[in-house]
Amino acid sequence: MTFKELGLSAPLLKAIKEQGYTKATPIQEKAIPVVLEKKDILAGAQTGTGKTAGFTLPLLELLSRAKPTKHKHEVRALILTPTRELAAQVGESVSLYGKHLPFKSTVIFGGVKINPQITQLKKGVDIVVATPGRLLDHISQGTIKLSKVDFFILDEADRMLDMGFINDIKKIMKLLPKERQNLLFSATYSDAIKKLSESLLKSPTLIEV
Ligand code: AMP
Repeated sequence: MTFKELGLSAPLLKAIKEQGYTKATPIQEKAIPVVLEKKDILAGAQTGTGKTAGFTLPLLELLSRAKPTKHKHEVRALILTPTRELAAQVGESVSLYGKHLPFKSTVIFGGVKINPQITQLKKGVDIVVATPGRLLDHISQGTIKLSKVDFFILDEADRMLDMGFINDIKKIMKLLPKERQNLLFSATYSDAIKKLSESLLKSPTLIEV
């Protein structure tokens, strides 16, 4: 299926074309329409399937459809990843696919100085890609506000649990607005993922490829 048929609009189609993608991958074909319907999803997808575009594209589409808010560049989408490498990669995808849209994004991870991240956050961002530990540092320092988050995405959730992030994830979830859309991506399905999905997702659509 083409990306146009999946319901994406011109600024995204242009960015996709510039990337040289001609048709959607199976995970994109299944996930994009469901996310655009504003439903929660539980998606089983390995790296290499095109899963990043599978959530980044409909997220950008929904953000662009939303009415402009009074306060520009508040955090409306929060994407959590287990590692800094993945955070950087997802952040790059957000910038790439969003290059013809007016949104600002930033990547937050540990092991580097916090001050440049604070500077970025102060300028205002719509989309944050973060690892859980450093995000909590920002939360406790009051350098990030999550009260306007409409979209919460956990990427590679199984790896996050393997790395012991469950309590951090729970702390972060408690700080988010109740009304929001949640997307959970995991390469494997375990009891721990099941439990997490039950506490996070509202009547999720299951997507497998
Ligand atoms: P991911 O599984 O998200 O790590 O993506 C794997 C690779 O597939 C990335 O290098 C993407 O640039 C590429 N990719 C994603 N979607 C498509 C598509 N529809 N057509 C061709 N390549 C794609």
